[in-house]
Amino acid sequence: MRAWTRARRAQGETIAFVPTMGYLHEGHLSLIRGALSLADHVVASIYVNPSQFAPHEDFETYPRDTERDLSALESLGCSAVFVPDTLYGQGGAPAQRAWIEVSELSAPLCGASRPHFFRGVATVVAKLFHIVEPDTAVFGDKDFQQRRVIERMVEDLDLPVRIVGLPIVREPDGLAMSSRNVRLSSEERLRARAVPQSLELAERLISAGELDVDAVRRQVRSHIESAGGEVDYVAIVDPDSLQTPDRVSGPVRVAVAATFGGVRLIDNRPVDPRGA
Ligand code: AMP
Repeated sequence: MRAWTRARRAQGETIAFVPTMGYLHEGHLSLIRGALSLADHVVASIYVNPSQFAPHEDFETYPRDTERDLSALESLGCSAVFVPDTLYGQGGAPAQRAWIEVSELSAPLCGASRPHFFRGVATVVAKLFHIVEPDTAVFGDKDFQQRRVIERMVEDLDLPVRIVGLPIVREPDGLAMSSRNVRLSSEERLRARAVPQSLELAERLISAGELDVDAVRRQVRSHIESAGGEVDYVAIVDPDSLQTPDRVSGPVRVAVAATFGGVRLIDNRPVDPRGA
């Protein structure tokens, strides 16, 4: 992979990189299209990274369809796809001894219920950056906290990559596209609409002058719970520090994670009380 990139670089060409775990949907494909406008070549990767799953999580059952993914990437004009069998050598991820920890930004939200998650993400993204050596890497805002963690890693470790974030792509009824959505039953799929609706509710409340963070969080939570979702977190955070203010006094990210029928969904929305 590195030889491929270096040969392109030697021609003066640039590379934009889109890392994924495969089972691609329109959200991923929008990143590929965005990446095509940022560099001469787009490289995608498909790798379900074991080190970001806890033993009780869905690593084994994570949906996979590499043949279909490869044909979608090829028809969009991706120059190369990196599909490693493993990135952890003999012994797999458990034998890995060097890890990247991005403190503070990895602690709240998804990090609270998945304590090793961002360590696994940051480490695998750093490994991929060292293998692919891209000029630019593109991430979706669907995983907003992940993008912030990676931006911080790149900044603090002086990695020579520009990070670009692109907006969330949604189904017509508002549900954020996700590889895990196929695991929702048709009834759960309908109930899951409460997730994006709850973020719109937060925006309406804040626009109407409800600036007390806990009051907004309570209403968002009860909206999801009354649709049968099990809430992991409802957060209203500063978009840079991911810290929770007492009151909304500037732009914030409203972020939620909830489980419907055992399928964990995340979503978020930027809300600016002044622009509302
Ligand atoms: P994943 O395959 O879930 O690891 O996601 C790979 C990349 O696609 C990440 O940068 C995600 O944020 C991005 N992504 C996933 N779903 C969406 C979506 N609905 N809209 C935009 N980007 C997405």
